[in-house]
Amino acid sequence: MPLRSYTRRRLVPRLVFSLSMALLPLLLGSVIIYWQALSSLGAEARTAANEAVRLFDVMLGNARGAAQVALRHVDEGCADATLVLREQVAVVPFVRSVNLTRDDTIYCTSLFGDYEAPLDAGLYVAGELRMMAGNEVTPHYALLILRRVEGRFAALSTIDGRYLSNTLQLVDQRSDLQLRVGQQWMDEEGRVFDGNPAALPLGHVERTSRRFPYTVIGGFPEGAQWQHIRRDSLPLVALMLMLGGVSGIACYWLWGRSATPSLELERALLAGEFVPYLQPLVNARDGRWVGAEVLMRWIHPREGMVGPDLFIPMAERSGLIVPMTRELMHQVADALAPHGHLLGQGFHLGFNISARHCTEPGLFGDCRDFQARFLPHRLELTLELTERELIVSSEVTDELFDNLHSLGVKLAIDDFGTGNSSLAYLHRFKVDALKIDKSFVAMIGVDALSSHILDSIVELCGKLDLMIIAEGVETEQQRAYLASRGVEVLQGYLFDRPMPLAAFIEALQRRQGGR
Ligand code: C2E
Ligand code: CA
Ligand code: CA
Repeated sequence: MPLRSYTRRRLVPRLVFSLSMALLPLLLGSVIIYWQALSSLGAEARTAANEAVRLFDVMLGNARGAAQVALRHVDEGCADATLVLREQVAVVPFVRSVNLTRDDTIYCTSLFGDYEAPLDAGLYVAGELRMMAGNEVTPHYALLILRRVEGRFAALSTIDGRYLSNTLQLVDQRSDLQLRVGQQWMDEEGRVFDGNPAALPLGHVERTSRRFPYTVIGGFPEGAQWQHIRRDSLPLVALMLMLGGVSGIACYWLWGRSATPSLELERALLAGEFVPYLQPLVNARDGRWVGAEVLMRWIHPREGMVGPDLFIPMAERSGLIVPMTRELMHQVADALAPHGHLLGQGFHLGFNISARHCTEPGLFGDCRDFQARFLPHRLELTLELTERELIVSSEVTDELFDNLHSLGVKLAIDDFGTGNSSLAYLHRFKVDALKIDKSFVAMIGVDALSSHILDSIVELCGKLDLMIIAEGVETEQQRAYLASRGVEVLQGYLFDRPMPLAAFIEALQRRQGGR
């Protein structure tokens, strides 16, 4: 898996997780606010309907009182009774007219006195209550008529529909209220309709009076919940937005924060903090650049540049060394491939690999991809494997090195002389080059035994036909000695220190121009 997709794969879950944690309070909060809005609309509708019933009961109670008083005067003639009827209209609140009937015929009214008109008692719900859109006196105003019966006689008390519609409006200005009597119902405008009103979409409630045969219907139209939220819950919405933002940022930060050193390495890898430094390999006689070793550096945001000795062992233990090296290869290929012509045929590029690397899949593919980036210029990719940590031969490693060799990838033993690799080992892994450790180079002219070992190594390489590279060359004396012993390729501060990619390319260009 190339590191770029590895990086993307790690970044995507982090973003998705942080975003979910930001959205979670929002989502939960929205559900709660919505649910709360609905339930408080329901409660408001119930309260309004109860209050309307209480007020209508009071009105109808008044009407019943007026009817009872009127009924006490059925034995008198209408001329006397009319005075009583009119008095009731004048003193009893809400009552507009009081009429008397005998044998279902109206015979005396508060408005006209003597009267004669038939009455259809069947139109009264439970024989007691009737709603009308209007009558001949007030054809445009609804009325509610209460009928109270006593034997052959009955009294009719009429309440003006405007009291009713005002009550429906004023009890609760936000909710919709309707008054239903039998098959008729009245809306807040005082209009009377036949049949049953359509159920209200939000908080629908029906309250039937226990004293009179009518029902009050309450509820809210569609969209009332949003008005409610806008009016009452805006601070809560703002709080949720803030909570969501804080929790999302906190999760993103916590995810990125490293709890252990290996997580810290992983974070650094995602952040692109590992970069390659290149140190040239030079020809011992003419100083030509014949290659370079790629050395990893950690550009830490707080600590500055961190050397590999401090983090490579941890990277090897955690297995992160594999994607880290892959990232290094990508960076080197991206920067150097466009300058392939400056490198020349057979330019060595050495990458350090660890034994762990050889048992994990991917090394072969990484090397193949790397080489392919430099075509048509043939580049000599060398894997440097330290002698202190040799690979244990197995079917997997044997096959890997066979495959690498057939790709043209070279194998060098690094820090040679500090470990104990045998001739058999060099043979088995078809080693191509040895890098003499800088501790031997440092002893040139100082310690006779070390110089002797160095001479033996050089001699051994000649016999085995191995390329030899001396690292850590710091003085002219060391260079001259190594050159005199036939060591052709040198690396060290005497020539160049490891440098960033851009500086390396610049130096390459300068050298090309100067030639
Ligand atoms: P190494 O492979 O032996 O690399 C050579 C080390 O010697 C480098 O140290 C280099 O900067 C240093 N050096 C070069 N010329 C001179 C000189 O003239 N004098 C002295 N005193 N030192 C010189 P560096 O870069 O600190 O690397 C240390 C070790 O870290 C490397 O030793 C290598 O074993 C490991 N390393 C570096 N990069 C990687 C990597 O990408 N992967 C792995 N697995 N190991 C790496
Ligand atoms: Ca090395
Ligand atoms: Ca070394």
